[in-house]
Amino acid sequence: MLARLIPDRHLATYRDVTPALLAADGIRALLLDIDNTLAPYEVAEPDDELRAWFAALAKAGVRVALVSNNHPERVALFNRTLGLPAYPDAHKPLRRTVRRALDELGVPPAEAAFMGDQLFTDVLAGKNLGMRAYTVPPIRDKRDLFTRFKRLLERPFMRAYRRRESKKNKENQA
Ligand SMILES: [Mg+2]
Repeated sequence: MLARLIPDRHLATYRDVTPALLAADGIRALLLDIDNTLAPYEVAEPDDELRAWFAALAKAGVRVALVSNNHPERVALFNRTLGLPAYPDAHKPLRRTVRRALDELGVPPAEAAFMGDQLFTDVLAGKNLGMRAYTVPPIRDKRDLFTRFKRLLERPFMRAYRRRESKKNKENQA
């Protein structure tokens, strides 16, 4: 359970997930959270930079789907110009919708990654199915008490991630 809350990679931004990085990790499919991962909550549609990123993934043959806990209207508007397979009301970290998204992309979990900003929804959702998990810091976090509490609960797991990474680095240098 606890290991399922630790991401495999923590990146500065979604833009750091390049076709080269995915190839190095053996990843052919990427399931994506929207809010605070690709865009802030209040931004309705993707900007040019995000569209270019999706185009580069498509060109590299990476299969992509949007898997969001937000409502269908938000997801449909965001996806209007992208036209990706999209799964709103996904109830992450529950498995059902995430598994359906993966099945419909036709890629086994071992060759798929979930990218999101929340450990208790996105990372757990991916890890529950045996996928890799990538995290990014929330683009513009809400400041309400519930969100701050969630972030507080995430801290030990991000510390565990950093410990593991620094241990790996030391081993590589040795
Ligand atoms: Mg999010």
